[in-house]
Amino acid sequence: APARIAVTGLAVMGSNLARNLARHGFRVAVHNRTNARTKALISEHGHEGEFVPAETLDELVGSLQKPRQIIIMVKAGAPTDAVIDELAPLLEPGDMVIDGGNAHYADTRRREAALREAGLHFVGAGISGGEEGALNGPSIMPGGSKESYEHVGPVLEAISAKVNGEACCVHVGPDGAGHFVKMVHNGIEYADMQLIAEAFDLLHRAGGLTPAEVAEVFRGWNTGDLESYLVEITAEVLAHVDAETGSALVDVIADEAEQKGTGRWTVQEALELGVPVTGIAEAVFARSLSGRASQREAARAALGVNEVVASRDDSLVEDVRQALYASKVVAYAQGFDQMRAASTEYGWDLDLGSTATIWRGGCIIRARFLDRIKEAYDRNPELETLLADDYFRDAVRTAEDAWRRVAVKAVQSGVPAPGFVSALSYYDALRSERLPASLIQGLRDFFGAHTYRRTDREGSFHTLWSGDRSQIDA
Ligand code: NDP
Repeated sequence: APARIAVTGLAVMGSNLARNLARHGFRVAVHNRTNARTKALISEHGHEGEFVPAETLDELVGSLQKPRQIIIMVKAGAPTDAVIDELAPLLEPGDMVIDGGNAHYADTRRREAALREAGLHFVGAGISGGEEGALNGPSIMPGGSKESYEHVGPVLEAISAKVNGEACCVHVGPDGAGHFVKMVHNGIEYADMQLIAEAFDLLHRAGGLTPAEVAEVFRGWNTGDLESYLVEITAEVLAHVDAETGSALVDVIADEAEQKGTGRWTVQEALELGVPVTGIAEAVFARSLSGRASQREAARAALGVNEVVASRDDSLVEDVRQALYASKVVAYAQGFDQMRAASTEYGWDLDLGSTATIWRGGCIIRARFLDRIKEAYDRNPELETLLADDYFRDAVRTAEDAWRRVAVKAVQSGVPAPGFVSALSYYDALRSERLPASLIQGLRDFFGAHTYRRTDREGSFHTLWSGDRSQIDA
């Protein structure tokens, strides 16, 4: 019998996805450029379901029922283009190519347009959850035509994570929408992790708690509003003792954060769209700063080490919890703002509420909190900002005093908390009656005659700064 679907690219992600498909009863054709990987998959896991191994793409295509569905799980970038170029001529109009790699959404838009010309469907599907998720149920963000989703949707939904019986997979929107949403997911993941790291740093260095004690704090937090995968594993990492030294592992790990670049993509795109994603940007920059080892060393030598004096203060734990929650709300509000802007820019008609549904399970940022986001967009799909929703408004308002105390504590004690502090500034800026942008406009008009608008009447104006300083219509 022909196979229902195919996977090409059988490194860890592709082989786990193929196994997930097979375990769900789909007859799955499998192929990899280097045949040894295909053989290894069959010999190690062939008993898990119905696999149809293929040595060439031609053979792979020939083994499939029509319209064909082929998932590409190869290295993102040029390798993906190479596979598409080889695959496309072997296909017929109506066939579907699904890219499950970490593609940049602009590449996905380009590929979708090119394949559409050839009558083929291209589905850029963001997949999150790592190798474990790929095997047991990832969060899947498929883009592409509605028509293609009618075919691939049921398969992807079947293998995705489930929360309360609902699939963490929803058709996101046309062309690059799926990969865009996946990108923002990763950006939010950066912000989430940065805020968690700042919470730890404050409790540890300013609050004098040991990593093991902070682990306990996080364990407690994981039973409330902050319940999430990242908070859960933070407790595990903080509690872990290094076997060699007997110290907390977190004190032994080099403090230089690495990045693969999806956080940077999110910020780059936000800059293009003009959306302030300060939480994600601070998180990306904090990682960059941590990685500049020689510069940090030079600064310590010249300026002296930043000695933080810890003081045990019973209210700090609860204050930090509230600051973390409020800052997290801001980071998500900004990420959703970015998706909203992209939706308008590219005509995607994104359903932001269902994005929250997709992220509830399978992915790294899965959290109870996402139910609240879904509910907020159910209440009002046109929400200007998540912060304007009743639930989130109350959440940040309730946290506000604690949030300010934590910001003060960070600033006074010398523990860097760019995520907390910048989230608070964003919150304050959004609610300001007047922003000093008026002065900026005045300066721009002074040195560049860029003109300004007035609050009291329509039109553009320029002040003759180097003349008699009268105002003229511009
Ligand atoms: P890799 O990204 O390491 O890619 C290895 C695979 O790509 C191999 O199958 C390799 O074939 C194939 N490949 C590389 N170059 C070519 C080429 N020019 N032509 C054909 N095949 C090629 O594999 P992963 O499993 O780690 O990731 C697969 C995709 O999933 C990537 O896009 C990655 O970014 C994404 N990913 C997603 C994660 C997530 O959590 N969602 C986690 C990890 C990855 P060969 O064996 O012949 O070398």
